[in-house]
Amino acid sequence: MSVRSVFDLIVNYYVSDSLNRLKDNGHVYVTELVSCPMKHYLRKRYPTLALQLNFNEKILLGKLVHEGIESVLHKIAQLMDNVEVEASVSKEINGVTIVGRADIVMSDAVIELKTTRSTKDLPHENHILQAAIYARLLDKSRAVLLYIVLNNDVRILEYDVDPISDEMLYQLVSELKEKKPSPRFPWECNYCVFKQFCPVRQINRQ
Ligand code: SF4
Repeated sequence: MSVRSVFDLIVNYYVSDSLNRLKDNGHVYVTELVSCPMKHYLRKRYPTLALQLNFNEKILLGKLVHEGIESVLHKIAQLMDNVEVEASVSKEINGVTIVGRADIVMSDAVIELKTTRSTKDLPHENHILQAAIYARLLDKSRAVLLYIVLNNDVRILEYDVDPISDEMLYQLVSELKEKKPSPRFPWECNYCVFKQFCPVRQINRQ
Protein backbone atom coordinates (compact mmCIF):
# COMPACT_ATOMS: atom_id res chain seq x y z
CA MET A 1 0.00 0.00 0.00
CA SER A 2 1.44 3.39 -0.99
CA VAL A 3 1.69 6.32 1.42
CA ARG A 4 -0.82 8.21 -0.68
CA SER A 5 -3.41 5.46 -0.42
CA VAL A 6 -3.08 5.42 3.38
CA PHE A 7 -3.75 9.15 3.35
CA ASP A 8 -6.77 8.60 1.07
CA LEU A 9 -8.13 5.94 3.43
CA ILE A 10 -7.84 8.30 6.39
CA VAL A 11 -9.47 11.19 4.52
CA ASN A 12 -12.31 9.01 3.22
CA TYR A 13 -12.90 7.57 6.68
CA TYR A 14 -13.37 11.05 8.16
CA VAL A 15 -15.41 12.30 5.19
CA SER A 16 -17.90 9.42 5.53
CA ASP A 17 -18.02 9.98 9.31
CA SER A 18 -18.83 13.65 8.64
CA LEU A 19 -21.49 12.66 6.07
CA ASN A 20 -23.15 10.42 8.64
CA ARG A 21 -23.33 13.35 11.04
CA LEU A 22 -25.06 15.38 8.33
CA LYS A 23 -28.00 12.99 8.05
CA ASP A 24 -31.05 14.84 9.24
CA ASN A 25 -32.27 12.73 12.16
CA GLY A 26 -34.00 15.64 13.89
CA HIS A 27 -31.39 15.72 16.63
CA VAL A 28 -29.40 18.72 17.78
CA TYR A 29 -25.73 18.21 18.54
CA VAL A 30 -24.24 19.70 21.71
CA THR A 31 -21.78 21.60 19.49
CA GLU A 32 -24.72 23.25 17.73
CA LEU A 33 -26.11 24.54 21.02
CA VAL A 34 -22.87 26.42 21.69
CA SER A 35 -22.48 28.04 18.28
CA CYS A 36 -24.53 30.26 15.98
CA PRO A 37 -28.12 28.86 15.91
CA MET A 38 -28.51 29.75 12.22
CA LYS A 39 -25.81 27.19 11.35
CA HIS A 40 -28.12 24.39 12.49
CA TYR A 41 -30.65 25.37 9.81
CA LEU A 42 -28.15 26.18 7.05
CA ARG A 43 -26.46 22.82 7.67
CA LYS A 44 -29.66 21.11 6.49
CA ARG A 45 -30.13 23.48 3.56
CA TYR A 46 -26.53 23.26 2.28
CA PRO A 47 -25.22 19.80 3.25
CA THR A 48 -22.25 20.03 0.86
CA LEU A 49 -21.06 23.22 2.54
CA ALA A 50 -21.76 21.67 5.92
CA LEU A 51 -19.24 18.96 5.10
CA GLN A 52 -16.55 21.67 5.21
CA LEU A 53 -17.81 22.61 8.66
CA ASN A 54 -16.92 19.15 9.94
CA PHE A 55 -13.95 18.49 7.76
CA ASN A 56 -10.90 20.46 6.66
CA GLU A 57 -7.13 20.14 7.02
CA LYS A 58 -6.99 21.74 10.48
CA ILE A 59 -9.88 19.63 11.73
CA LEU A 60 -8.25 16.48 10.31
CA LEU A 61 -5.06 17.13 12.32
CA GLY A 62 -7.13 17.84 15.43
CA LYS A 63 -9.15 14.64 14.95
CA LEU A 64 -6.00 12.52 14.53
CA VAL A 65 -4.43 13.93 17.71
CA HIS A 66 -7.75 13.65 19.53
CA GLU A 67 -8.20 10.01 18.56
CA GLY A 68 -4.57 9.23 19.42
CA ILE A 69 -5.06 10.61 22.93
CA GLU A 70 -8.37 8.81 23.27
CA SER A 71 -6.89 5.47 22.26
CA VAL A 72 -4.29 5.85 25.04
CA LEU A 73 -7.06 6.80 27.45
CA HIS A 74 -9.05 3.75 26.33
CA LYS A 75 -6.17 1.56 27.50
CA ILE A 76 -5.90 3.46 30.78
CA ALA A 77 -9.68 3.27 31.25
CA GLN A 78 -9.53 -0.52 31.00
CA LEU A 79 -7.30 -0.45 34.08
CA MET A 80 -9.61 1.89 36.00
CA ASP A 81 -13.14 1.43 37.23
CA ASN A 82 -15.94 3.77 36.23
CA VAL A 83 -14.16 5.45 33.32
CA GLU A 84 -15.85 5.62 29.95
CA VAL A 85 -14.35 7.03 26.75
CA GLU A 86 -16.49 8.54 23.94
CA ALA A 87 -19.68 8.13 25.93
CA SER A 88 -22.85 8.78 23.89
CA VAL A 89 -25.32 11.20 25.44
CA SER A 90 -28.92 11.78 24.42
CA LYS A 91 -31.48 13.79 26.36
CA GLU A 92 -34.71 15.57 25.51
CA ILE A 93 -34.75 19.20 26.62
CA ASN A 94 -37.72 21.44 25.91
CA GLY A 95 -38.97 19.15 23.10
CA VAL A 96 -35.56 18.85 21.40
CA THR A 97 -33.33 15.76 21.50
CA ILE A 98 -29.80 16.83 22.33
CA VAL A 99 -27.11 14.34 21.34
CA GLY A 100 -23.35 14.26 21.70
CA ARG A 101 -20.33 12.21 22.65
CA ALA A 102 -18.47 13.09 25.83
CA ASP A 103 -14.74 12.47 25.50
CA ILE A 104 -14.07 10.95 28.94
CA VAL A 105 -16.56 10.28 31.71
CA MET A 106 -15.30 9.57 35.22
CA SER A 107 -17.29 8.91 38.39
CA ASP A 108 -17.29 12.59 39.45
CA ALA A 109 -16.38 14.53 36.31
CA VAL A 110 -16.57 14.71 32.57
CA ILE A 111 -13.43 15.63 30.62
CA GLU A 112 -13.63 17.52 27.35
CA LEU A 113 -10.51 17.35 25.16
CA LYS A 114 -9.54 20.09 22.73
CA THR A 115 -6.52 20.52 20.51
CA THR A 116 -5.24 23.99 19.66
CA ARG A 117 -2.19 25.69 18.22
CA SER A 118 -2.50 28.86 20.25
CA THR A 119 -3.06 29.64 23.91
CA LYS A 120 -4.58 33.03 23.02
CA ASP A 121 -7.92 33.66 24.75
CA LEU A 122 -8.08 30.21 26.37
CA PRO A 123 -10.41 28.84 27.55
CA HIS A 124 -12.84 29.69 24.74
CA GLU A 125 -16.39 30.52 25.76
CA ASN A 126 -17.98 27.96 23.41
CA HIS A 127 -15.71 25.21 24.80
CA ILE A 128 -16.63 26.16 28.40
CA LEU A 129 -20.32 25.95 27.49
CA GLN A 130 -19.83 22.59 25.79
CA ALA A 131 -18.06 21.09 28.80
CA ALA A 132 -20.70 22.59 31.14
CA ILE A 133 -23.51 21.01 29.08
CA TYR A 134 -21.89 17.56 29.16
CA ALA A 135 -21.49 17.83 32.93
CA ARG A 136 -25.22 18.62 33.26
CA LEU A 137 -26.39 15.95 30.77
CA LEU A 138 -24.31 13.31 32.53
CA ASP A 139 -25.19 14.49 36.06
CA LYS A 140 -21.59 15.21 37.04
CA SER A 141 -20.60 17.81 39.61
CA ARG A 142 -17.88 19.28 37.38
CA ALA A 143 -16.21 19.22 34.00
CA VAL A 144 -12.56 19.57 33.11
CA LEU A 145 -11.65 21.31 29.90
CA LEU A 146 -8.32 19.92 28.76
CA TYR A 147 -6.42 21.73 26.00
CA ILE A 148 -3.61 19.93 24.19
CA VAL A 149 -1.54 22.79 22.80
CA LEU A 150 0.37 21.74 19.69
CA ASN A 151 3.04 24.29 18.99
CA ASN A 152 6.77 23.89 18.73
CA ASP A 153 6.33 21.94 21.95
CA VAL A 154 3.33 20.16 23.43
CA ARG A 155 1.55 21.56 26.49
CA ILE A 156 -1.54 20.52 28.37
CA LEU A 157 -3.74 23.12 30.04
CA GLU A 158 -6.65 22.29 32.36
CA TYR A 159 -9.66 24.38 33.33
CA ASP A 160 -12.39 23.47 35.82
CA VAL A 161 -15.93 24.13 34.64
CA ASP A 162 -19.21 24.03 36.60
CA PRO A 163 -22.25 22.25 35.13
CA ILE A 164 -24.59 24.54 33.22
CA SER A 165 -27.81 25.43 35.06
CA ASP A 166 -31.11 23.95 33.85
CA GLU A 167 -32.34 27.49 33.09
CA MET A 168 -29.33 28.24 30.90
CA LEU A 169 -29.67 24.91 29.08
CA TYR A 170 -33.35 25.64 28.37
CA GLN A 171 -32.36 29.09 27.18
CA LEU A 172 -29.82 27.67 24.72
CA VAL A 173 -32.47 25.32 23.31
CA SER A 174 -34.95 28.22 22.98
CA GLU A 175 -32.30 30.31 21.24
CA LEU A 176 -31.72 27.50 18.76
CA LYS A 177 -35.45 27.32 18.02
CA GLU A 178 -35.69 31.10 17.60
CA LYS A 179 -32.41 31.28 15.61
CA LYS A 180 -31.21 34.05 17.93
CA PRO A 181 -28.59 35.29 18.57
CA SER A 182 -27.13 34.62 15.11
CA PRO A 183 -24.19 34.79 15.23
CA ARG A 184 -23.67 33.76 18.87
CA PHE A 185 -20.11 35.17 18.93
CA PRO A 186 -18.86 38.25 17.03
CA TRP A 187 -16.06 36.30 15.31
CA GLU A 188 -18.22 33.45 14.00
CA CYS A 189 -19.34 34.83 10.62
CA ASN A 190 -15.78 35.51 9.49
CA TYR A 191 -14.95 31.80 9.74
CA CYS A 192 -18.35 30.41 8.74
CA VAL A 193 -18.70 28.14 5.68
CA PHE A 194 -22.25 29.44 5.13
CA LYS A 195 -21.40 33.14 5.10
CA GLN A 196 -21.97 33.58 1.35
CA PHE A 197 -25.58 32.40 1.61
CA CYS A 198 -26.52 33.46 5.12
CA PRO A 199 -29.25 36.13 5.36
CA VAL A 200 -28.04 37.44 8.73
CA ARG A 201 -24.25 37.29 8.40
CA GLN A 202 -22.19 39.97 10.09
CA ILE A 203 -18.77 40.17 8.53
CA ASN A 204 -16.27 42.16 10.60
CA ARG A 205 -13.56 43.84 8.60
CA GLN A 206 -10.38 43.23 10.62
S1 SF4 B 1 -22.70 33.58 8.54
FE1 SF4 B 1 -22.77 34.15 10.71
S2 SF4 B 1 -24.93 34.33 11.22
FE2 SF4 B 1 -24.76 33.16 9.31
S3 SF4 B 1 -24.73 31.02 9.93
FE3 SF4 B 1 -22.63 31.69 9.75
S4 SF4 B 1 -22.07 32.35 11.81
FE4 SF4 B 1 -24.27 32.26 11.72
